[in-house]
Amino acid sequence: MFDLDRIRRDTPAAASAVFLDSAGSSLPPDPVVETAVAHLRREAVVGGYRAANERMADLAAVKSSIAKLIGAQASDIALSDSATRSWSDFFYSVPLSPGDRILLCEVEYASNAIAALQRAATVGAIVEFVPSDPSGQIDLNALERMLDDRVRIVSLVHAPTNGGLINPAREVAELAHRHGALVLLDACQSIGQVRVDVGELGVDALSATGRKWLRGPRGTGFLYLRPELAASLEPPALDLHSAQWIAKSEFQLAADVTRFEFWECDVAARLALGRAVDYLLDIGIDAVEEAVRERATYLRAQLRGVDGVTVHDLGERKSGIVSFTADGKIPTDVRDALAERGITVTVSHRRSTLVDMNQRGLDAVIRASPHYFVTFEQLDEMVAALRSL
Ligand SMILES: *Cc1c(COP(=O)(O)O)cnc(C)c1O
Repeated sequence: MFDLDRIRRDTPAAASAVFLDSAGSSLPPDPVVETAVAHLRREAVVGGYRAANERMADLAAVKSSIAKLIGAQASDIALSDSATRSWSDFFYSVPLSPGDRILLCEVEYASNAIAALQRAATVGAIVEFVPSDPSGQIDLNALERMLDDRVRIVSLVHAPTNGGLINPAREVAELAHRHGALVLLDACQSIGQVRVDVGELGVDALSATGRKWLRGPRGTGFLYLRPELAASLEPPALDLHSAQWIAKSEFQLAADVTRFEFWECDVAARLALGRAVDYLLDIGIDAVEEAVRERATYLRAQLRGVDGVTVHDLGERKSGIVSFTADGKIPTDVRDALAERGITVTVSHRRSTLVDMNQRGLDAVIRASPHYFVTFEQLDEMVAALRSL
């Protein structure tokens, strides 16, 4: 196990308040904040270009760290400013013809679904949703029946934003590949809280964000692409980093995954993202996974004991997201009342995961997402506060 006291010293706010929103935007540890702030200060002295040049090796190491975390090579990673950017950059680059099919999951994140619907309308493709099984995870039998050689992309949300399940990504990839479909994994809510190994899962692409379970800064994200794939895809928007202007009327795409990156970026945030990943690697993802699971399991059990509270988490395998409602109480009111007592939770609204919420007749759920730096006493405090409302 890791040294919880040391970790909590790195995150002073974790002691003064009960922070249960690592699924929204976590508390970055001090070394991450210091990395970003130090770089901004350096930019103020020598300018952004020189400041970045001084950190070339560290900037390159950001990709190596991410690659180490997910079992990839640094050359398979494209950095971006959000998970959505990475997801769409890949999604919009996959060639689609009229009649092609795009399969989404029922817990699909709104931004992904919106992109799929827009693109389908433009090219004459068809968007379909693979149903969830009674346990709440993607129905693998239904997926198998739906797959045919018109399916180009299967989009799977690894861990949904509105509840505590983890979808079986490897099984989905295996089935999809039998029919030649590409699998795009939205790993926003799984990266940083459970082990995610792209080799093991066999997905073609993966998108993730820095600010959630990775405890990195806002405005950071990345895309992983299976090595052979980059060269066959053309991103819809290019710049002088993703391509080169080689003659008056000619440009050449970068040969590798760099074609999915723009030149301009928030260097301070990027360095801080690398620091966040290193911080996680130091603790060890298995220790983190265990600590998060213990906390979420404990919180669910405590919440089930509170009159009028219903826990809504589904799935055979659970994540660190705990979703619930309280009879007769509006979720945002509960959030605000807890905030007054120094407890941070958030609310997941129907529009973020429309199909799943409609399916379950839910309009909004309160979401508590305890990371490894939260103590069990703090979870008790949260439950006691909820009881007192
Ligand atoms: C947060 C989230 C996203 C979007 O991430 P951004 O970095 O805000 O683009 C996508 N999918 C899921 C499941 C999420 O929880």
